[in-house]
Amino acid sequence: MEQMKGGEQEKEQAKGLECRRCGCRHFYVTHTLQLPDGRIKRRRVCRHCGTPIVTFEVPLGYVSENARK
Ligand SMILES: [Zn+2]
Repeated sequence: MEQMKGGEQEKEQAKGLECRRCGCRHFYVTHTLQLPDGRIKRRRVCRHCGTPIVTFEVPLGYVSENARK
């Protein structure tokens, strides 16, 4: 059974993040890395199917340096 209704018991930090394989929204954080540019990289693993997802958290006031060229 993949359908879990009314299951908002856990507050996930990354809202709207979904497993691309099973659509599950529950992840374990297996790795957290503070990047030199201020962002936080988190490696998550889906609780259902184990699909890994890497997310980058951007702090408030962060200015992207990707567009300086
Ligand atoms: Zn999944």
